[in-house]
Amino acid sequence: MVNPASSYCGRLAPSPTGHLHLGHARTFWIAQQRAHAAGGRLLLRNDDLDSSRVRPEFVNTMIEDLRWLGLTWEEPMISQSQRLDRYRAALVHLHAAGRIFPCHHSRRTLAEAAVSAPHEGGENDEPIYPPAFRPPADASLPPLDANGLATNWRFRVPDGATLAFDDGYFGTQSAVAGRDFGDFLVWRKDGVPSYQLACAVDDAELGITEVVRGADLIKSTFRQILLIRALGHTEPAYYHCPLVCDDQGVRLAKRHDALALRSLREAGVSPAEVTARLEKPGE
Ligand code: GLU
Repeated sequence: MVNPASSYCGRLAPSPTGHLHLGHARTFWIAQQRAHAAGGRLLLRNDDLDSSRVRPEFVNTMIEDLRWLGLTWEEPMISQSQRLDRYRAALVHLHAAGRIFPCHHSRRTLAEAAVSAPHEGGENDEPIYPPAFRPPADASLPPLDANGLATNWRFRVPDGATLAFDDGYFGTQSAVAGRDFGDFLVWRKDGVPSYQLACAVDDAELGITEVVRGADLIKSTFRQILLIRALGHTEPAYYHCPLVCDDQGVRLAKRHDALALRSLREAGVSPAEVTARLEKPGE
């Protein structure tokens, strides 16, 4: 199925924080269809960095659910928790280039001082960082020693710069740095990268040519494009899938147990019935 002449490389990037539901199934199904149509490769990335939410047993159940649905990918699965050295190297690069700064403010102080921003971005979004909290651009940075790695670091966004990308589904998307999103977290004081940094490093270094994911991550895409460029790479193409809503129009979340793939399967629904439903995105 993979055409050796194709340069396309896509990825499925589930987080093992709960059972996959129909929304995930739709996104991953589209990702597979796009990879197949291009004769390209498809990788499976296990986004297992958020230790407060990740549960190891969900890794196996997510693999089972994906296989049940009929998805296939190139082995081995890539787990972000095994790539910490790559994320540290990226942090060192950003530090040497003066693109990040340490942030010692608590989440609460930040929430109180935050410049309000439209909040449609979902769990990976964050309020706009108060510009008054930013150190001057020429301030010297503390080293990335053990202390430095136990510090929150943020990416200094180029205020006023307009960023745009041509989304494969939604068309041209643009945002202004400093207005639509502010200085964002790249490293957390518990010694792990933020989702934004890990995802940018992986998409760039694993040679992903098209990212297919849910529309809740459109705003994250602007941040990741900034990171990928700051790390000296070129960003992939992006295709964001419309989100699946329940009968009340509420976006599906992992708490919608009834629409978890696992529940559908236990209720006797076949994979073919699920994928037939996924092929009609209007529903
Ligand atoms: N693991 C992320 C999520 O489930 C998706 C990351 C991505 O596709 O970039 O929200």
